[in-house]
Amino acid sequence: LTGHTEREIPFTKPGCLTKVYAITSGKGGVGKSSITANLAAALAAQGLKVGVLDADIYGFSIPRMLGVDTPAQKVDEMIIPPVAHGVKVISIGMFVPDGTPVIWRGPMLHRALQQFLADVFWGDLDALLLDLPPGTGDVAISIAQLLPNAEIVVVTTPQIAAAEVAERAGSIATQTKQRVVGVVENMSFLENPDGSRTEIFGSGGGQQVSERLGAQLGYQVPLLAQVPLDVNLREGSDQGSPVVLREGPAAKALQQVAEVLAK
Ligand code: ADP
Repeated sequence: LTGHTEREIPFTKPGCLTKVYAITSGKGGVGKSSITANLAAALAAQGLKVGVLDADIYGFSIPRMLGVDTPAQKVDEMIIPPVAHGVKVISIGMFVPDGTPVIWRGPMLHRALQQFLADVFWGDLDALLLDLPPGTGDVAISIAQLLPNAEIVVVTTPQIAAAEVAERAGSIATQTKQRVVGVVENMSFLENPDGSRTEIFGSGGGQQVSERLGAQLGYQVPLLAQVPLDVNLREGSDQGSPVVLREGPAAKALQQVAEVLAK
């Protein structure tokens, strides 16, 4: 990365038809990156041309989740993103040596994001998904500036404490005028062998975020899905093989969200 780009960001050009979705959450560990990786794979499996920009600069995890182990190539000053499960992927993880922490201040982050948007050969995408870091920090602000047309998907768990911070992450949209597409509740329950459900993280978080954001924004912010706890989702994320491409309860819920985003 050079930190400089003269190129225009293709996704904000008039007439660009790429749908841009920024996936956000209030705090870490709620499954935001897993959901981003799975939605991207699901959209690509539907035949859409999909890219993922891992904007979770400090906590990048998308390459592992999608099973990308090839570095990004540079050709004629353009960065060629590796492809996994039909998804073009770019992450800061491809530019720093293994194990090196990324310690950057806001302006560096902003320039890296700008370069990931303008200097990566994304081609003609139907959808670009951005895995934002949790919260309302520098990256969320930069993305709002660089991609005012990005629509926001908020991920939360059912836990009320998580929902309250997720609502704050979503309500950044009232200031940036970005549209919130909906809320995904993750880790909603664990299905027991007898078919009953254990609500490990309580219940109601997703519904609460959806209602409160809707009230703040003045339009309906739907609860798009409740994704259950699923050991296959965790294993798939660790192995670079998204669960959404297989059968199962989490896969079904994620497919449901992908259908909304594909429209
Ligand atoms: P975040 O991006 O919000 O920090 P991650 O996507 O990294 O969260 O998920 C945190 C951990 O929880 C990961 O180990 C992931 O595999 C696991 N995980 C996420 N969602 C589920 C789920 N529905 N069922 C089981 N494990 C999950």
